[in-house]
Amino acid sequence: MFAISDLIAERADFFQGYPTESEIKPYLNDQECFFVADSIEMQWPHLKRNSGCYVMDDGSPGDHAWNRHPDGTIIDATAIQFGSSDYIIDRQSDQYDRYVSWQHENIKAQALGHKAGWHDPQEDYDGLCPQCTEDISSTRSLGTN
Ligand SMILES: [Zn+2]
Repeated sequence: MFAISDLIAERADFFQGYPTESEIKPYLNDQECFFVADSIEMQWPHLKRNSGCYVMDDGSPGDHAWNRHPDGTIIDATAIQFGSSDYIIDRQSDQYDRYVSWQHENIKAQALGHKAGWHDPQEDYDGLCPQCTEDISSTRSLGTN
C-alpha cells in the first residue's frame, strides 16, 4: 500500500547534505577504503558505501570503495591513495567518471573487472561475466575462481 508519508520518509535523506571539511577530517585516510566507507555510512546513513573500480590514468581499474550521496555525488575520503585531495566529487568533476560501482554501473564495472582479471563474486550480482561468460554470480560455490 503506497503512502506519501512513506515516500517522504524514504526520500528524506536525499535532502541531507555533505559532511563539512571538519566533519570529514577524521575519516581522511590513504588506505582502508572499505573500512573508511563503512564508517562514513554508519555516521551518515544517507551516504551509502559503494564499491567497484577507480579507473586509473592508463585505463586500468583499481579496487576501491567510496560513498555516494543520493544525488549521485561521490564522497571519497580515501581519494588521496589515488593522488587526489578532493573528497567531494560531483557530476561536474572531471574525476567523476573514474568511479564505476558494482551497485550503480554493474555491467561497466564487470567489464573493467574482467580486464583486470577479477572474477570475484560481487554483491547483488547474479550472472555471468559479460566479457567471457564465466560464472561470477554471488550465489555460486566458492573456490572456482
Ligand atoms: Zn570475464
